[in-house]
Amino acid sequence: MDLGLTAEQQQLRQSVRELSEREIRPQVMRWDEAQSWPAEALAPLAAMGCMGMLVPAEYDGAGLGYIEYTLALEELARVDPSVALIVEAHNSLCTNHILVAGNEAQKRRYLPRLASGEWIGSWSLTEPGAGSDAGGARTRAERRDGGWVLQGAKTFTTNGAHAQVCVVMAVTQPERGKHGISAFIVERGTPGFSNGRKENKLGMRASDTSEMLFDNCRLPAEALLGKEGEGFVDALRILDGGRIGIAALAVGLAQGAYETARNYARQRKQFGKTLAEFQAIQWKLADMATEIEAARLLTWRAAWQMDSGVTATLAAAMAKLKAGEVAVHAAGECVQIHGGYGFVKDYPAEKYYRDARLCTIGEGTSEIQRILIAREVLKQ
Ligand SMILES: Cc1cc2nc3c(=O)[nH]c(=O)nc-3n(C[C@H](O)[C@H](O)[C@H](O)COP(=O)(O)OP(=O)(O)OC[C@H]3O[C@@H](n4cnc5c(N)ncnc54)[C@H](O)[C@@H]3O)c2cc1C
Repeated sequence: MDLGLTAEQQQLRQSVRELSEREIRPQVMRWDEAQSWPAEALAPLAAMGCMGMLVPAEYDGAGLGYIEYTLALEELARVDPSVALIVEAHNSLCTNHILVAGNEAQKRRYLPRLASGEWIGSWSLTEPGAGSDAGGARTRAERRDGGWVLQGAKTFTTNGAHAQVCVVMAVTQPERGKHGISAFIVERGTPGFSNGRKENKLGMRASDTSEMLFDNCRLPAEALLGKEGEGFVDALRILDGGRIGIAALAVGLAQGAYETARNYARQRKQFGKTLAEFQAIQWKLADMATEIEAARLLTWRAAWQMDSGVTATLAAAMAKLKAGEVAVHAAGECVQIHGGYGFVKDYPAEKYYRDARLCTIGEGTSEIQRILIAREVLKQ
């Protein structure tokens, strides 16, 4: 067993860290307050290969593995979890679904554009009535005139209003239940496709979360992604990788909150001492550091399984569950260590606290992760 990073992995981590500090840190609160799309951050990230991290070089991607991907997401989330979420949904969900299930023509059309950052990708599974029970989707796709007609609405789509391409799950054979759901690639500008409401969110506010509306949306036959009826099954496989992405984001967020709290504890004085001199605060920092390391190791292990070609459903669910809950706890302790200053927007603590709440909800809630974990361990 070797838990060390290679020189290339360390270099990648350092490069993303420097870019995050230089290009992202100064803008974080401006983007958050205005809920504005951080285009200025995405261009340099694309130039560094971060928009096509898992895409092989033959499709103009960075050709990297999940370990490198988790390192990059950790570094981004350490500074701005919203930017990390944009990059995660683009890479893990949209791009990866096309990579895993697409035919050669689809890969040639979409992967180079997504990997270069020329096009942003989104992925729509959730519906107003189908969240945790995503197999209960009602958006329909019917064969007509040699193509498909999409009818319905998706909600909570990350990057939805900014994406040029969206992978959409829709029911094609209602009588077949979860094996009657197919995936489709929908390009912006397709007649009948529009964006609905943009959500006004608690956290992750620079990341766009939008409704996707399909009203007699006509798609060519080639828009079908993967086999008919296999879209939901493919989506579950995609979510294994996605959960590793959210786990990495959560680890990075927790790391950022921890460092912020530690730095504050070193300089804030009360009773003639720094906060860091009080044992109560030391124990908080010790627990945060230990829990973050545990979450990171689970995340790296899940990433290593993906890179090794081992099914990672259990490992990804464990990593996502642990890291999400660690992020929420660490962000809460960061606010607590800041006292009243943790409650105001002059300090970064409150933003980590708001952003962290997504980590136990998006790409499967903590309750759903426990259901998945229980199902897997009871098979053993
Ligand atoms: C910012 C943001 C970004 C998102 N991005 C995307 C995206 O890009 N694409 C996409 O498709 N979706 C996206 N989602 C949707 C997200 O995956 C869902 O919100 C999530 O899966 C939960 O679904 P829900 O909100 O409908 O909650 P519900 O399913 O209604 O759950 C409500 C509560 O009930 C619990 N619950 C539900 N079922 C059970 C059960 N069987 N046992 C125990 N407890 C249960 C849940 O854990 C939760 O606590 C995003 C959501 C947010 C907030």
